[in-house]
Amino acid sequence: MLDRPLRPSPISSTVDFSAAGVQHGFLRLPYSRDDSAWGSVTIPVTVVKNGEGPTALLTGGNHGDEYEGPIALFDLARTVKAEDVSGRIIIVPAMNYPAFLAGTRTSPIDRGNMNRSFPGAPDGTVTQKIADYFQRVLLPLADVVLDFHSGGKTLDFLPFCAAHILPDKVLEARAFELVGAFGAPWSMKMLEIDAVGMYDTAAEEMGKVFITTELGGGGTATAKTAGIARTGVANMLKAAGILKGAVVSTETTWLDMPDGDCFSFAEDGGLIEPLYDLGDTVENGDVVARIYPVGRTGVAPLEVTAKMDGVLAARHFPGLVKPGDCVSVLAAIVG
Ligand code: CA
Repeated sequence: MLDRPLRPSPISSTVDFSAAGVQHGFLRLPYSRDDSAWGSVTIPVTVVKNGEGPTALLTGGNHGDEYEGPIALFDLARTVKAEDVSGRIIIVPAMNYPAFLAGTRTSPIDRGNMNRSFPGAPDGTVTQKIADYFQRVLLPLADVVLDFHSGGKTLDFLPFCAAHILPDKVLEARAFELVGAFGAPWSMKMLEIDAVGMYDTAAEEMGKVFITTELGGGGTATAKTAGIARTGVANMLKAAGILKGAVVSTETTWLDMPDGDCFSFAEDGGLIEPLYDLGDTVENGDVVARIYPVGRTGVAPLEVTAKMDGVLAARHFPGLVKPGDCVSVLAAIVG
């Protein structure tokens, strides 16, 4: 089979990533549809460049119903001054822009989950085309990458900044240095349920320093979590030497997700009764939540038990649960 080179991305940028100063514009992706024959998806982007230094690529809205990232990044794009920057900052506050506008995790156009769409495809669906643009145009420009997440409508998290355990220990150490600088109340050594197709994996395989967050959830933001995002991104940029000023030091507790025992999944649907809240200490064997069958009265609830000691780091958010849903995530305190 011949390995044909990929065609160029159909996305064009109205900003020049190599020009000095602050530019606000769009990543424009042609999208022909019923209500706009020659229409496009126009993803807001800001680039700030000044002098010499590394490039940070900052993204929110990878999932469209997670809000701390977009809040912090729309704010940063509006307020950052070129003279405070050494190097370059590329800001895309809402990466899966169609999903962000719809307030949904995945795109309403193609149901594409951005974080399962990498490396993407220039001739694929809208979500795959956006992923391909990040894979082949934006990620190669970056030295450090911060991708904001929260729990979305169906999960709620302790507010934490995170990086992954990596085979490249130098890269791993640089990532955890930036996680510490971000200064969320909790800092996580993160394990993924399924790392295939993730933006995280694409960035790490390219040798980029990659950090991410989970800053709350339930499909909204709070004053506290939005504040953590705003302070955290500035801290990360200062620690990377890209933004002027000193890192605002904050207390953080380090957590680890040692293996798959940290996850508990529902084996039946029903009404969920949480027995612990986020941040509570849980012991191996404790019942974390009960799931009541709702077809009739008089039936005992299913008990979801912890498989390790730790703190409750994430929980199912809606009041009703379906078979297979993630009920809880535990993490071990490491310091
Ligand atoms: Ca997410």
